[in-house]
Amino acid sequence: MDTHRQVLDRLRSSFKSGVTIPEQFRRTQLSKLTAMIKENEELILKALHKDLAKPKFEAVLSELDLVSNELHCATTNLSSWMKPEYVSKNLATRLDDCFIRREPLGVVLIIGPWNYPLQLLMVPLIGAIAAGNCVIIKPSEVSAATDSLIAELIPKYLSQDCYAVVRGGAEETTALLQNRFDHIFYTGSQTVARSIMQAALVHLTPVTLELGGKCPCFIYGRVNMEAAARRLVWAKFFNAGQSCVAPDYVLCTKATLDSLLPAVCQVLEEFYSKEPQTSPDFSRIVSPKHWSRLMELLKRSSSKVVVGGQGKEEDKYIGGLHGPMCGHSGSPTVVVDVAEDDALMQEEIFGPILPFITMESLEEGIEFVNRREKALALYVFSDESSVVNTVMENTSSGGFCSNDGILHMTLPRASGWGSYHGHWGFETFSHRRACMLRGWAMERLNGLRYPPYQENKLSWLRWTASPKPSCSLM
Ligand code: NAD
Repeated sequence: MDTHRQVLDRLRSSFKSGVTIPEQFRRTQLSKLTAMIKENEELILKALHKDLAKPKFEAVLSELDLVSNELHCATTNLSSWMKPEYVSKNLATRLDDCFIRREPLGVVLIIGPWNYPLQLLMVPLIGAIAAGNCVIIKPSEVSAATDSLIAELIPKYLSQDCYAVVRGGAEETTALLQNRFDHIFYTGSQTVARSIMQAALVHLTPVTLELGGKCPCFIYGRVNMEAAARRLVWAKFFNAGQSCVAPDYVLCTKATLDSLLPAVCQVLEEFYSKEPQTSPDFSRIVSPKHWSRLMELLKRSSSKVVVGGQGKEEDKYIGGLHGPMCGHSGSPTVVVDVAEDDALMQEEIFGPILPFITMESLEEGIEFVNRREKALALYVFSDESSVVNTVMENTSSGGFCSNDGILHMTLPRASGWGSYHGHWGFETFSHRRACMLRGWAMERLNGLRYPPYQENKLSWLRWTASPKPSCSLM
């Protein structure tokens, strides 16, 4: 097996040869990646099921189709993305060619997490290939089946001179990071992100960090409780709560809680039956270690469990036997009476535990959220547009969605929906090179800038360079 250095040397010399620059090369690699996804759909679904018991329905929507759509978007738009972007000129540069050229960064490293182990590696990879880079991808060792499948498939489909998979956990990744990359793209936890930044610092490597956090969900005012319960439960328990944009906790009044809870219990039963542990539609916690972390959080919490709360380690399942409110066996976990300093509020939950925090007023909830770190996503459920607007205008978060959860991530990607989807992926992995192609014309006008400096020359220069609504001289 090649060492990290050998892999990097191979990729760097390919990059230097310019092989990734032509549009046709990038197109070929993207179509090979498309074939890889299409031809191995069953194997991918099997691996995702092995890692997370991911239901086919969720895997198709959030992994396979999402990646295929990104590939389609990149291949459809590649020519226009690669075109030079002409910029506005002033009088002094009017005869020049002034444009921004997108150039690849070089050899880039993409490190992925385990919760969407295909999507969160492939989407940045698509951007990096489209932008003409050579790429090393490092899947998460935690989602072992998908990790191993990706390592097997990528060299079969993509150019081995330009793309490679390096496998391993913290130790191997730390060793890999000692090498110089031209960009590091990392998705994962905030703790590890600090180590990534430290490694990048040594080589002054630019980084993109896609991290986690706690995503609040306000439920306030007049609300269609049944619909709210369905959308909330779906968004929270999709992938067993292991989504970076899953609603982490709910903020509502006591009155809302009283009418919402029965609806939540009913929906849980509708979705996952009275025995969620037997439901094929409810994922599992990725590993015993992550299962223990969640169970430990529950143990340390002083909140009141109203649904679930018990786990089966051998099945990496968190749900429960009899929750006092719903009285059915095996369901994801809902807790109430959660204090601000409760264990569940100290870190991102990232699992199927949904805390409800009661507030007296919307303002109190907004203050609560604003006291904490900025959220990746923020949700508000209400029939009243004034409530939605009040929350939107008085808080800040990576993304915002009213009356639903997670769904905003499926929008056609514009800036802000994760700055690496679609065109933004291409931009993240491109260097924007400002280019000015000048001729020899207008030397008299150019002469204004040469010494000996004079006040009247300066006035002319300032006038030529200043913004003008319309210029009648040219
Ligand atoms: P993680 O940080 O533990 O691991 C992510 C990657 O880093 C893995 O490939 C792992 O092998 C590697 N790694 C682990 N320890 C390392 C170390 N010491 N040095 C170098 N590399 C190391 O994250 P995770 O548990 O896989 O993912 C969960 C986190 O990711 C959550 O916080 C979640 O919110 C976040 N996340 C964010 C997004 C987003 O788009 N913002 C998407 C998914 C997940």
